[in-house]
Amino acid sequence: MAKVSINLATGSIQKEELIVGIDLGTTNSLIAFINPENNPQVINDMGKGVLVPSIVHFDPINGEIKVGNEAKEFLTTDPQNTIFSVKRLLGRSYKDIQNYKDFFSYKIIDDNTESLVKIKVGDKFYTPIELSGLILKELKERAEHALKTPVNRAVITVPAYFNDSQRQATRDAGKLAGLDVLRIVNEPTAASLAYGIGLNQEEAKTIAVYDLGGGTFDVSILQIQNGIFEVLATNGNTFLGGDDFDSAIVDYWIEKNQLDKAKVSNNQELSQKLRLKAEETKKAFTHQSLVNDKIGEIWCTLERTTFEKLILSKVNETITCCQNALNDAKLSVEQIDEVIMVGGSTRISLVKKKVSDFFKRPLHDNVNPDEVVALGAAIQADILAGNRTDILLLDVTPLSLGIETMGGLMDVIITRNSKVPTKAGRQYTTSIDGQVNMKIAVYQGERDLVKENRKLAEFELKGIPAMPAGFPKVDINFLLNADGILKVQAIELRSGTKQEVEVKPTYGITDEQVEQMLLDSITNAKSDVDQRMLIEAKTEGEQMIYTVERFIQKNNHFLSDIEIADTHKYLQTLKDSLLGNNKDIIHKAIDSLNEFTRPFAERLMDEAIAVAMKGKRVE
Ligand code: ADP
Ligand code: MG
Repeated sequence: MAKVSINLATGSIQKEELIVGIDLGTTNSLIAFINPENNPQVINDMGKGVLVPSIVHFDPINGEIKVGNEAKEFLTTDPQNTIFSVKRLLGRSYKDIQNYKDFFSYKIIDDNTESLVKIKVGDKFYTPIELSGLILKELKERAEHALKTPVNRAVITVPAYFNDSQRQATRDAGKLAGLDVLRIVNEPTAASLAYGIGLNQEEAKTIAVYDLGGGTFDVSILQIQNGIFEVLATNGNTFLGGDDFDSAIVDYWIEKNQLDKAKVSNNQELSQKLRLKAEETKKAFTHQSLVNDKIGEIWCTLERTTFEKLILSKVNETITCCQNALNDAKLSVEQIDEVIMVGGSTRISLVKKKVSDFFKRPLHDNVNPDEVVALGAAIQADILAGNRTDILLLDVTPLSLGIETMGGLMDVIITRNSKVPTKAGRQYTTSIDGQVNMKIAVYQGERDLVKENRKLAEFELKGIPAMPAGFPKVDINFLLNADGILKVQAIELRSGTKQEVEVKPTYGITDEQVEQMLLDSITNAKSDVDQRMLIEAKTEGEQMIYTVERFIQKNNHFLSDIEIADTHKYLQTLKDSLLGNNKDIIHKAIDSLNEFTRPFAERLMDEAIAVAMKGKRVE
């Protein structure tokens, strides 16, 4: 065990080096630091503004990549090549997002519904991790430019409801941007730190954090005790936010000016102008009660009271979510000690009034609501840097702990800097039909390939009942106790087969070695992630070949000879691509094979239904 600040603060990394706090938002992202006066401050590089719209544009002709405001301009003129809201896709599979896939104007690949989504831009494939990495890189560069110092370490925030895979994806995005992500912090936790709530070790409080942003709403109930933030409940709506208020205003103007809605939507330039004017009008209501404006011949007039009527039902929906969160936490309104307002849309006075009425108390709203999360992240970063001696740091694990997965990749289960004692687990499955044994190799370290990390133990889970690949469910749990002993447990859930080992990760490793491992991981971050993405693409390709070959074998009677021959051609292209090292070529081959074979599966399904129907008729 080590205290958080020591290992990284020595060696070639200087102790004074800055750690930044980053709010990687769905609509806007921003970066903050602790200034020489010891106050958290958001970075505004060359007056470009504090908020960086979370948007990436790829120029279809010269391949140039733009991030932020410059990319935002392409939202309407070049929607296929302009990626927004990528946070909604982070760490998600196609299956997770298929219900709202129409929301995105760019192409999301659906070849494998179980694995993480990819986005196709031109003939290149990007993962949400890479895209978020581009946004983080822009933030890092802005900070370096504004502060005139290298920025290599960061704390990044995520919504409290983010699962393991979404958190890991956020970490990886940081790595790709060349950042050593010291900790992933919940957005509501960061917001309360910005208000100084939770900084006092003695204080015990229950708080509600109400976060209404551009496209999403979430409310979190947190319990703070001894400096530990526990999430009691979260609730919300991932498709409710300021964008809805803007479109309500646009619809109102369309009606008042007796315009044809379909015609307006087909006119990209006009729609965009109306949308921007609506947002401007909405924001103006923070200071005035009437807006009187025109776009050409279109009157854009609105009173605040009318605006409030337009958005009332949406605002009421958020209050229902607050009630649901309280119910889940088994708390009454009276048991909430503090209410914190987060997100640009909480500037709306109706929102404030409704929230305050519901919780029956005054709100914390004097910190800028779109900066509050980044400011809190900067405070958390400062705590990790060891600059706040008034705050006790709990023992943490100095290196990540995980297991080996396909292709020799490290799958982290307990991340570095986690407080101990801690436990974490994840579910795995088999990759081959009828597989009855599973090798579990436990590693320690920050590198993406296990061969670069330190092996702690290996054992075999035997007696998995023979089932098709992907069916067995194996839970792997890591329990790290306060003495630093790690217990690894593997259980196959259907049969109850169980196996476990115990190791002491710090045994036989010096502080210097830990430091060296951390430094290596930083130096090699970019190439590590690239390698990992290549291995992931290869693994996906191999699995696809396995599945398709099996499918042809089983169903050759209902495919024509030409279809079989063509499938083999696509299979061969994929096999050839696996010999190379270009992940885009591999993804392309997977995509083509998938597109070609998809109708077969559909036909098979139709046939099965037809047979079933026939059966019924005979009866
Ligand atoms: P996210 O967390 O989703 O990235 P933000 O917290 O940055 O989003 O919130 C962005 C939203 O806040 C946008 O819809 C924007 O129009 C809205 N917003 C910003 N300022 C105001 C204001 N003064 N009044 C109303 N809405 C505002
Ligand atoms: Mg936000």
